[in-house]
This record gives sequence, C-alpha cells and structure tokens, in this order.
Amino acid sequence: MPSYNIIEMGSRKRIALVAHDNKKRDLIEWARYNRAILVEHDLYATGTTGALLAESLDLQVTRLQSGPLGGDQQIGAMISQGEIDFVIFFWDPLEPQPHDPDVKALLRIAVVWNIPVACNRSTADFLISSSLMHDPYERLMQDYEEYKQRLKNKA
Ligand code: PGA
Repeated sequence: MPSYNIIEMGSRKRIALVAHDNKKRDLIEWARYNRAILVEHDLYATGTTGALLAESLDLQVTRLQSGPLGGDQQIGAMISQGEIDFVIFFWDPLEPQPHDPDVKALLRIAVVWNIPVACNRSTADFLISSSLMHDPYERLMQDYEEYKQRLKNKA
C-alpha cells in the first residue's frame, strides 16, 4: 500500500499555460473569458503562448522558452520542484509536433506529481469554475521514498 504526503496549495495558484499553434486562438478566447479569475493567480507560459496572453489580454505572465525550444520541459522541471500547481495545456491532437516527446513528458510528470491538467476547453472550464480555485487545497502526493530507496542494499 503506498503512503501519501500532503502538499499545501495556497489560494493563489501557480498556473502554467501552453497552447500549440492551432490551439492558441482557443486558449486566448478561454483566457479572455476567464481573465478576472486568472489575474488572481500567478501565470507562467511557454514563450509564444505567453506573449499572446500578455499582449492581447494585458495579463502578467512569466514567459519561459518557446515549447519546441524547451519550454514544456521547463514546466515539467518546475512541477517536480514544487513550483507549479496547475496546468492548462491545449495540445493539438491532429498534428505531429517537433517536440512530441516533450509533450508526453510534461503530461507524464504532471501525473507523477498529482497536478491538475486541462487538455481541452471543457476540462479547463470545469477546473477554473471549481471552488478549489479560490481556496487552499491539500494535494495528496504519493510518498516516493520507498521508490527512491529501491536499490538500497542491492549494490
Ligand atoms: P509556444 O510553445 O507557446 O512557444 O508556441 C507551445 C508549445 O508548442 O509547447
């Protein structure tokens, strides 16, 4: 039986936003509609997505590298360091991307750390309209200590 630890999320969430090129319009529309909620949180985004959000919605966004240049990996690293609480990731299911392995890696690491991820607009609608957006939240984290110790005494 795995054991669990509790990670406290504050009421101000650290949200990462990413959209593939064919999904950027969707993300901007969604963010425009939800702007009043988004301004209450700390926003991070891959380079081009972040530039569009900042320019078209006058939102304050910390911009990382563009996705294909490592931005998705940066978000994954931030998740594993406990620096991102929440991911909105509108990825394109109809077009191969040069950084498909990074996309898969980001989705995987979000599951490892039990991070909420919305991959389409309706999921994003459900997440952002949750009362948990405004309240502190206790995120349950599987305790990976046993996993980290798995080779101890086997060398
Ligand atoms: P971009 O990256 O915001 O720099 O376009 C998004 C992505 O493709 O991951």
